[in-house]
Amino acid sequence: MSDLSARFEAAMMPNYGLPPVALARGEGCRVWDVDGKAYLDLIGGIAVSALGHAHPALVAAVSAQVGTLAHTSNLFLHEPEVLLAERLLQLLGGDGRVFFTNSGTEANEAAYKLVRRHAGPDRTYVVAAEGSFHGRTMGALALTGKTSIREPFAPFGADVRFVTYGSEEALRAAVTEECAAVFLEPTQGEGGVVPAPEGYLAAARRICDETGAALVLDEIQSGIGRTGVWFQHQREGVRPDVITLAKGLGGGLPIGVCVGFGPYATAFGKGDHGSTFGGNPVSCAAALAVLDTIDKEGLLESVGTVGDLLAAGITRTGHPLVAGVRGSGLWRAMVLSEPKAAAVEAAARDAGFLVNAVQPDAVRLAPPLIITSEEAASFVAALPEILSKA
Ligand SMILES: *Cc1c(COP(=O)(O)O)cnc(C)c1O
Repeated sequence: MSDLSARFEAAMMPNYGLPPVALARGEGCRVWDVDGKAYLDLIGGIAVSALGHAHPALVAAVSAQVGTLAHTSNLFLHEPEVLLAERLLQLLGGDGRVFFTNSGTEANEAAYKLVRRHAGPDRTYVVAAEGSFHGRTMGALALTGKTSIREPFAPFGADVRFVTYGSEEALRAAVTEECAAVFLEPTQGEGGVVPAPEGYLAAARRICDETGAALVLDEIQSGIGRTGVWFQHQREGVRPDVITLAKGLGGGLPIGVCVGFGPYATAFGKGDHGSTFGGNPVSCAAALAVLDTIDKEGLLESVGTVGDLLAAGITRTGHPLVAGVRGSGLWRAMVLSEPKAAAVEAAARDAGFLVNAVQPDAVRLAPPLIITSEEAASFVAALPEILSKA
Protein backbone atom coordinates (compact mmCIF):
# COMPACT_ATOMS: atom_id res chain seq x y z
CA MET A 1 0.00 0.00 0.00
CA SER A 2 2.68 2.57 0.94
CA ASP A 3 4.56 2.01 -2.32
CA LEU A 4 1.33 2.35 -4.33
CA SER A 5 0.42 5.51 -2.41
CA ALA A 6 3.79 7.09 -3.17
CA ARG A 7 3.41 6.28 -6.86
CA PHE A 8 -0.15 7.66 -6.84
CA GLU A 9 1.09 10.91 -5.36
CA ALA A 10 3.92 11.17 -7.86
CA ALA A 11 1.79 10.44 -10.95
CA MET A 12 -1.65 11.89 -10.23
CA MET A 13 -2.74 15.52 -10.00
CA PRO A 14 -3.22 16.46 -6.35
CA ASN A 15 -6.94 17.29 -6.65
CA TYR A 16 -8.21 14.24 -4.74
CA GLY A 17 -5.54 14.29 -2.05
CA LEU A 18 -4.25 10.84 -1.14
CA PRO A 19 -7.09 8.33 -0.59
CA PRO A 20 -6.56 6.32 2.61
CA VAL A 21 -7.22 2.87 1.13
CA ALA A 22 -6.18 1.13 -2.09
CA LEU A 23 -8.89 -1.33 -3.08
CA ALA A 24 -8.06 -4.52 -4.94
CA ARG A 25 -11.35 -6.39 -5.40
CA GLY A 26 -14.94 -6.73 -4.26
CA GLU A 27 -17.75 -9.24 -3.98
CA GLY A 28 -21.29 -8.36 -2.96
CA CYS A 29 -21.11 -5.64 -0.30
CA ARG A 30 -17.52 -6.52 0.66
CA VAL A 31 -14.31 -5.06 -0.69
CA TRP A 32 -10.70 -5.99 0.05
CA ASP A 33 -7.72 -3.66 0.07
CA VAL A 34 -4.33 -4.46 -1.44
CA ASP A 35 -3.12 -5.73 1.96
CA GLY A 36 -6.03 -8.19 2.19
CA LYS A 37 -8.09 -6.33 4.82
CA ALA A 38 -11.86 -6.72 4.27
CA TYR A 39 -14.43 -3.93 4.59
CA LEU A 40 -18.21 -3.76 4.48
CA ASP A 41 -18.85 -1.18 1.76
CA LEU A 42 -21.44 1.28 3.08
CA ILE A 43 -20.75 3.98 0.51
CA GLY A 44 -20.85 1.99 -2.75
CA GLY A 45 -18.52 4.25 -4.73
CA ILE A 46 -20.75 7.23 -3.81
CA ALA A 47 -24.16 5.66 -4.46
CA VAL A 48 -22.94 4.02 -7.68
CA SER A 49 -22.43 0.30 -7.04
CA ALA A 50 -26.15 -0.45 -6.87
CA LEU A 51 -25.62 -4.22 -7.25
CA GLY A 52 -22.52 -4.28 -5.07
CA HIS A 53 -19.32 -5.68 -6.53
CA ALA A 54 -18.90 -8.38 -9.18
CA HIS A 55 -22.64 -9.12 -9.28
CA PRO A 56 -23.09 -12.11 -11.65
CA ALA A 57 -25.82 -10.34 -13.67
CA LEU A 58 -23.59 -7.30 -14.28
CA VAL A 59 -20.53 -9.41 -15.05
CA ALA A 60 -22.49 -11.53 -17.54
CA ALA A 61 -24.13 -8.57 -19.29
CA VAL A 62 -20.93 -6.54 -19.61
CA SER A 63 -18.80 -9.54 -20.64
CA ALA A 64 -21.28 -10.60 -23.31
CA GLN A 65 -21.57 -7.08 -24.72
CA VAL A 66 -17.84 -6.31 -24.76
CA GLY A 67 -17.31 -9.62 -26.53
CA THR A 68 -19.91 -8.70 -29.15
CA LEU A 69 -19.72 -4.96 -29.81
CA ALA A 70 -18.13 -2.44 -27.45
CA HIS A 71 -18.53 0.79 -29.38
CA THR A 72 -20.35 2.21 -32.37
CA SER A 73 -20.24 6.04 -31.93
CA ASN A 74 -23.49 7.81 -32.74
CA LEU A 75 -22.89 7.38 -36.46
CA PHE A 76 -24.59 4.01 -35.94
CA LEU A 77 -27.41 2.90 -33.67
CA HIS A 78 -27.46 -0.27 -31.59
CA GLU A 79 -30.12 -2.26 -29.78
CA PRO A 80 -28.89 -1.87 -26.14
CA GLU A 81 -29.32 1.93 -26.27
CA VAL A 82 -32.84 1.63 -27.68
CA LEU A 83 -33.81 -1.01 -25.11
CA LEU A 84 -32.43 1.10 -22.27
CA ALA A 85 -34.15 4.28 -23.48
CA GLU A 86 -37.47 2.43 -23.76
CA ARG A 87 -37.03 0.87 -20.32
CA LEU A 88 -36.23 4.22 -18.68
CA LEU A 89 -39.20 5.89 -20.34
CA GLN A 90 -41.45 3.10 -19.15
CA LEU A 91 -40.20 3.54 -15.56
CA LEU A 92 -40.52 7.33 -15.76
CA GLY A 93 -43.88 7.44 -17.55
CA GLY A 94 -44.94 10.36 -19.73
CA ASP A 95 -43.98 11.43 -23.22
CA GLY A 96 -40.20 11.56 -22.86
CA ARG A 97 -37.09 11.22 -25.00
CA VAL A 98 -33.62 10.27 -23.89
CA PHE A 99 -30.06 11.57 -24.43
CA PHE A 100 -27.21 9.39 -23.09
CA THR A 101 -23.97 10.70 -21.58
CA ASN A 102 -21.02 9.16 -19.70
CA SER A 103 -21.40 10.88 -16.35
CA GLY A 104 -23.61 12.99 -14.15
CA THR A 105 -22.04 16.32 -14.95
CA GLU A 106 -22.50 15.69 -18.68
CA ALA A 107 -26.16 14.83 -18.09
CA ASN A 108 -26.58 18.25 -16.46
CA GLU A 109 -24.66 19.93 -19.29
CA ALA A 110 -27.14 18.34 -21.69
CA ALA A 111 -30.05 19.51 -19.53
CA TYR A 112 -28.66 23.05 -19.40
CA LYS A 113 -28.26 23.22 -23.18
CA LEU A 114 -31.71 21.65 -23.65
CA VAL A 115 -33.53 24.25 -21.55
CA ARG A 116 -31.60 27.08 -23.22
CA ARG A 117 -32.51 25.68 -26.63
CA HIS A 118 -36.20 25.55 -25.76
CA ALA A 119 -36.32 28.90 -23.96
CA GLY A 120 -34.96 31.14 -26.70
CA PRO A 121 -33.24 34.48 -26.09
CA ASP A 122 -35.86 36.11 -23.82
CA ARG A 123 -35.35 33.76 -20.92
CA THR A 124 -31.91 34.87 -19.90
CA TYR A 125 -31.20 33.16 -16.59
CA VAL A 126 -31.66 29.97 -14.59
CA VAL A 127 -32.22 29.37 -10.89
CA ALA A 128 -30.43 26.83 -8.69
CA ALA A 129 -30.18 26.22 -4.96
CA GLU A 130 -27.56 27.18 -2.44
CA GLY A 131 -25.66 24.14 -1.23
CA SER A 132 -26.48 22.19 -4.40
CA PHE A 133 -24.10 19.99 -6.35
CA HIS A 134 -24.58 19.43 -10.08
CA GLY A 135 -21.08 18.49 -11.28
CA ARG A 136 -17.59 19.76 -12.05
CA THR A 137 -17.62 20.76 -15.72
CA MET A 138 -18.11 24.48 -16.35
CA GLY A 139 -21.85 24.49 -17.08
CA ALA A 140 -22.79 22.15 -14.25
CA LEU A 141 -20.34 23.94 -11.97
CA ALA A 142 -22.02 27.26 -12.76
CA LEU A 143 -25.25 25.66 -11.43
CA THR A 144 -23.55 24.33 -8.31
CA GLY A 145 -24.38 26.20 -5.13
CA LYS A 146 -21.48 24.93 -3.03
CA THR A 147 -19.39 28.11 -3.13
CA SER A 148 -16.10 26.46 -2.12
CA ILE A 149 -16.02 24.43 -5.34
CA ARG A 150 -17.69 26.99 -7.66
CA GLU A 151 -16.01 30.24 -6.77
CA PRO A 152 -12.36 29.41 -7.63
CA PHE A 153 -13.49 28.93 -11.27
CA ALA A 154 -15.78 31.94 -11.71
CA PRO A 155 -16.84 33.72 -13.86
CA PHE A 156 -18.84 31.32 -16.02
CA GLY A 157 -20.61 33.53 -18.52
CA ALA A 158 -23.92 32.11 -17.34
CA ASP A 159 -26.59 33.96 -15.38
CA VAL A 160 -27.37 31.58 -12.53
CA ARG A 161 -29.29 32.92 -9.52
CA PHE A 162 -29.09 31.00 -6.27
CA VAL A 163 -31.94 30.64 -3.79
CA THR A 164 -32.14 29.16 -0.31
CA TYR A 165 -32.91 25.44 -0.69
CA GLY A 166 -36.34 24.62 0.71
CA SER A 167 -37.79 28.16 0.70
CA GLU A 168 -40.91 28.49 -1.45
CA GLU A 169 -40.89 32.30 -1.06
CA ALA A 170 -37.31 32.56 -2.28
CA LEU A 171 -38.17 30.49 -5.33
CA ARG A 172 -41.29 32.54 -6.05
CA ALA A 173 -39.28 35.76 -5.87
CA ALA A 174 -36.49 34.47 -8.11
CA VAL A 175 -38.46 32.76 -10.89
CA THR A 176 -40.03 35.10 -13.47
CA GLU A 177 -41.02 34.86 -17.12
CA GLU A 178 -37.39 35.60 -17.97
CA CYS A 179 -36.24 32.45 -16.20
CA ALA A 180 -35.48 29.44 -18.43
CA ALA A 181 -35.27 26.75 -15.76
CA VAL A 182 -35.06 25.81 -12.11
CA PHE A 183 -32.48 23.11 -11.29
CA LEU A 184 -33.09 21.20 -8.05
CA GLU A 185 -32.02 17.99 -6.32
CA PRO A 186 -35.02 16.35 -4.56
CA THR A 187 -32.55 15.69 -1.73
CA GLN A 188 -29.21 17.49 -1.66
CA GLY A 189 -26.67 14.66 -1.72
CA GLU A 190 -23.24 16.31 -1.50
CA GLY A 191 -24.87 18.97 0.68
CA GLY A 192 -25.16 16.22 3.31
CA VAL A 193 -28.25 14.17 2.32
CA VAL A 194 -30.64 17.04 3.05
CA PRO A 195 -34.19 16.25 1.88
CA ALA A 196 -36.37 19.06 0.54
CA PRO A 197 -39.01 20.13 3.06
CA GLU A 198 -42.48 18.62 2.56
CA GLY A 199 -44.27 20.37 -0.31
CA TYR A 200 -41.20 22.19 -1.67
CA LEU A 201 -40.97 20.25 -4.93
CA ALA A 202 -44.72 20.61 -5.51
CA ALA A 203 -44.35 24.36 -4.97
CA ALA A 204 -41.45 24.43 -7.43
CA ARG A 205 -43.68 22.62 -9.95
CA ARG A 206 -46.45 25.23 -9.52
CA ILE A 207 -44.05 28.17 -9.81
CA CYS A 208 -42.54 26.73 -12.99
CA ASP A 209 -46.01 26.13 -14.44
CA GLU A 210 -47.04 29.71 -13.69
CA THR A 211 -43.93 31.27 -15.24
CA GLY A 212 -43.17 28.82 -18.04
CA ALA A 213 -39.75 27.91 -16.64
CA ALA A 214 -38.60 24.28 -16.88
CA LEU A 215 -38.37 22.21 -13.71
CA VAL A 216 -35.14 20.21 -13.99
CA LEU A 217 -34.70 17.56 -11.31
CA ASP A 218 -31.18 16.28 -10.79
CA GLU A 219 -31.75 12.69 -9.63
CA ILE A 220 -28.19 11.64 -10.35
CA GLN A 221 -27.76 10.49 -6.76
CA SER A 222 -31.39 10.02 -5.65
CA GLY A 223 -32.56 7.99 -8.65
CA ILE A 224 -32.43 4.27 -9.56
CA GLY A 225 -33.93 2.91 -6.36
CA ARG A 226 -31.72 4.73 -3.87
CA THR A 227 -34.66 5.92 -1.75
CA GLY A 228 -36.84 2.80 -2.19
CA VAL A 229 -38.72 4.06 -5.27
CA TRP A 230 -37.31 4.19 -8.80
CA PHE A 231 -37.00 7.98 -8.68
CA GLN A 232 -37.48 10.19 -5.67
CA HIS A 233 -39.87 12.57 -7.45
CA GLN A 234 -42.34 9.68 -7.82
CA ARG A 235 -42.73 9.60 -4.06
CA GLU A 236 -43.37 13.35 -4.01
CA GLY A 237 -45.88 13.09 -6.86
CA VAL A 238 -44.10 15.82 -8.82
CA ARG A 239 -43.28 15.48 -12.51
CA PRO A 240 -40.17 17.20 -13.85
CA ASP A 241 -39.83 18.67 -17.36
CA VAL A 242 -36.29 17.35 -17.49
CA ILE A 243 -34.57 14.75 -15.31
CA THR A 244 -30.91 13.78 -15.10
CA LEU A 245 -29.62 10.40 -13.90
CA ALA A 246 -26.20 8.76 -13.61
CA LYS A 247 -24.42 7.20 -10.59
CA GLY A 248 -26.40 4.03 -9.78
CA LEU A 249 -27.71 3.58 -13.33
CA GLY A 250 -24.67 1.70 -14.66
CA GLY A 251 -23.89 -0.13 -11.42
CA GLY A 252 -20.26 1.01 -11.79
CA LEU A 253 -20.01 1.37 -15.56
CA PRO A 254 -20.00 5.02 -16.65
CA ILE A 255 -23.35 6.23 -17.98
CA GLY A 256 -25.61 9.22 -17.49
CA VAL A 257 -28.86 10.31 -19.05
CA CYS A 258 -30.87 13.44 -19.61
CA VAL A 259 -34.59 12.83 -20.22
CA GLY A 260 -36.84 15.58 -21.53
CA PHE A 261 -40.65 15.49 -21.41
CA GLY A 262 -43.30 17.33 -23.41
CA PRO A 263 -41.67 20.10 -25.47
CA TYR A 264 -38.30 19.25 -23.88
CA ALA A 265 -38.40 15.77 -25.41
CA THR A 266 -37.76 17.24 -28.85
CA ALA A 267 -36.08 20.59 -28.09
CA PHE A 268 -32.72 19.43 -29.46
CA GLY A 269 -32.59 19.55 -33.22
CA LYS A 270 -30.23 17.62 -35.43
CA GLY A 271 -26.64 18.56 -34.60
CA ASP A 272 -27.45 20.41 -31.36
CA HIS A 273 -25.64 18.03 -29.03
CA GLY A 274 -23.58 14.86 -29.05
CA SER A 275 -21.15 12.55 -27.28
CA THR A 276 -18.76 10.03 -28.82
CA PHE A 277 -18.98 7.55 -25.95
CA GLY A 278 -22.44 8.46 -24.61
CA GLY A 279 -24.80 5.49 -24.64
CA ASN A 280 -22.08 3.04 -25.65
CA PRO A 281 -23.30 -0.57 -25.86
CA VAL A 282 -21.34 -1.83 -22.83
CA SER A 283 -22.64 0.83 -20.44
CA CYS A 284 -26.17 0.35 -21.78
CA ALA A 285 -25.94 -3.42 -21.24
CA ALA A 286 -24.74 -2.76 -17.68
CA ALA A 287 -27.64 -0.38 -17.01
CA LEU A 288 -30.17 -2.88 -18.39
CA ALA A 289 -28.73 -5.52 -16.03
CA VAL A 290 -29.01 -3.10 -13.09
CA LEU A 291 -32.67 -2.29 -13.84
CA ASP A 292 -33.55 -5.98 -14.41
CA THR A 293 -31.87 -7.05 -11.19
CA ILE A 294 -33.55 -4.34 -9.10
CA ASP A 295 -36.83 -5.71 -10.46
CA LYS A 296 -36.07 -9.43 -10.17
CA GLU A 297 -34.54 -9.28 -6.69
CA GLY A 298 -37.29 -7.01 -5.34
CA LEU A 299 -34.67 -4.48 -4.29
CA LEU A 300 -36.97 -1.44 -4.09
CA GLU A 301 -38.75 -3.11 -1.19
CA SER A 302 -35.60 -4.21 0.62
CA VAL A 303 -34.05 -0.75 0.18
CA GLY A 304 -36.97 0.59 2.23
CA THR A 305 -36.87 -2.05 4.97
CA VAL A 306 -33.07 -2.31 5.34
CA GLY A 307 -32.76 1.47 5.16
CA ASP A 308 -35.28 1.89 7.97
CA LEU A 309 -33.48 -0.75 10.07
CA LEU A 310 -30.20 1.07 9.55
CA ALA A 311 -31.66 4.44 10.54
CA ALA A 312 -33.46 3.02 13.58
CA GLY A 313 -30.30 1.18 14.65
CA ILE A 314 -28.21 4.35 14.45
CA THR A 315 -30.78 6.32 16.46
CA ARG A 316 -31.02 3.51 19.02
CA THR A 317 -27.29 3.70 19.88
CA GLY A 318 -28.24 6.82 21.85
CA HIS A 319 -24.62 7.92 21.63
CA PRO A 320 -24.10 11.62 22.49
CA LEU A 321 -22.22 12.13 19.21
CA VAL A 322 -25.32 11.15 17.19
CA ALA A 323 -27.68 14.11 16.77
CA GLY A 324 -30.01 12.43 14.27
CA VAL A 325 -30.42 10.66 10.94
CA ARG A 326 -31.47 12.29 7.65
CA GLY A 327 -32.55 10.80 4.35
CA SER A 328 -34.57 7.82 3.21
CA GLY A 329 -34.06 4.29 1.90
CA LEU A 330 -30.39 3.36 1.62
CA TRP A 331 -29.30 7.00 1.50
CA ARG A 332 -28.68 8.38 4.95
CA ALA A 333 -26.68 10.95 6.80
CA MET A 334 -25.75 10.25 10.38
CA VAL A 335 -25.79 13.78 11.77
CA LEU A 336 -23.22 14.42 14.49
CA SER A 337 -23.47 16.78 17.45
CA GLU A 338 -19.87 17.90 16.78
CA PRO A 339 -17.90 18.36 13.53
CA LYS A 340 -16.21 14.97 13.84
CA ALA A 341 -17.28 13.23 10.64
CA ALA A 342 -13.70 12.71 9.42
CA ALA A 343 -12.78 11.02 12.71
CA VAL A 344 -15.88 8.80 12.52
CA GLU A 345 -15.01 7.85 8.94
CA ALA A 346 -11.47 6.89 10.02
CA ALA A 347 -12.63 4.92 13.08
CA ALA A 348 -15.21 3.09 10.96
CA ARG A 349 -12.52 2.22 8.42
CA ASP A 350 -10.28 0.80 11.15
CA ALA A 351 -13.24 -1.31 12.27
CA GLY A 352 -13.81 -2.57 8.70
CA PHE A 353 -16.62 -0.30 7.45
CA LEU A 354 -16.38 2.19 4.57
CA VAL A 355 -18.48 5.32 5.16
CA ASN A 356 -18.10 8.91 3.94
CA ALA A 357 -17.65 12.18 5.83
CA VAL A 358 -19.84 14.15 3.42
CA GLN A 359 -19.92 17.26 5.63
CA PRO A 360 -17.91 18.12 8.76
CA ASP A 361 -20.88 17.05 10.90
CA ALA A 362 -22.49 14.41 8.66
CA VAL A 363 -21.46 10.86 7.77
CA ARG A 364 -23.04 9.54 4.56
CA LEU A 365 -24.18 5.95 4.08
CA ALA A 366 -25.13 4.87 0.53
CA PRO A 367 -24.48 1.13 0.44
CA PRO A 368 -25.24 -1.19 -2.47
CA LEU A 369 -28.98 -1.76 -2.85
CA ILE A 370 -28.36 -5.50 -2.28
CA ILE A 371 -27.19 -5.01 1.32
CA THR A 372 -28.90 -7.43 3.73
CA SER A 373 -30.38 -6.57 7.10
CA GLU A 374 -27.66 -8.76 8.72
CA GLU A 375 -24.93 -6.69 7.05
CA ALA A 376 -26.62 -3.45 8.14
CA ALA A 377 -26.98 -4.84 11.67
CA SER A 378 -23.26 -5.64 11.82
CA PHE A 379 -22.51 -1.93 11.32
CA VAL A 380 -25.08 -0.89 13.93
CA ALA A 381 -23.49 -3.33 16.40
CA ALA A 382 -20.02 -1.90 15.80
CA LEU A 383 -21.17 1.73 15.88
CA PRO A 384 -20.97 2.55 19.62
CA GLU A 385 -17.28 1.64 19.71
CA ILE A 386 -16.59 3.50 16.44
CA LEU A 387 -18.24 6.64 17.83
CA SER A 388 -16.38 6.38 21.13
CA LYS A 389 -13.04 6.04 19.34
CA ALA A 390 -13.88 9.11 17.22
C1 LIG B 1 -22.48 13.03 -8.40
C2 LIG B 1 -23.46 14.06 -8.80
C3 LIG B 1 -23.31 14.80 -9.97
C4 LIG B 1 -22.09 14.69 -10.85
O1 LIG B 1 -21.91 13.40 -11.38
P1 LIG B 1 -20.49 12.98 -12.01
O2 LIG B 1 -20.75 11.63 -12.60
O3 LIG B 1 -19.50 12.96 -10.89
O4 LIG B 1 -20.14 13.98 -13.02
C5 LIG B 1 -24.30 15.71 -10.30
N1 LIG B 1 -25.39 15.87 -9.53
C6 LIG B 1 -25.58 15.16 -8.40
C7 LIG B 1 -26.82 15.37 -7.60
C8 LIG B 1 -24.61 14.24 -7.99
O5 LIG B 1 -24.79 13.58 -6.84
